[in-house]
Amino acid sequence: MAHVISDECIACGACQGECPVDAIAEAEGKFVIDEDLCIDCGACASVCPVGAPAPKE
Ligand code: SF4
Ligand code: SF4
Repeated sequence: MAHVISDECIACGACQGECPVDAIAEAEGKFVIDEDLCIDCGACASVCPVGAPAPKE
């Protein structure tokens, strides 16, 4: 399982430094999670101001 960042992302960058496995990178105006690296810890979701990261369905 992995978290994914929705289109709600405003590219603030707050989540990037919180990820323990460095799975978050900026791409084309938003931030994206590398699903192969994500360990589903939820740290990104806890700091995001717009609630963009969520567990993948
Ligand atoms: Fe990184 Fe955790 Fe967010 Fe996955 S859930 S992208 S491991 S901070
Ligand atoms: Fe996007 Fe939220 Fe990460 Fe900011 S904290 S870059 S709004 S996902």
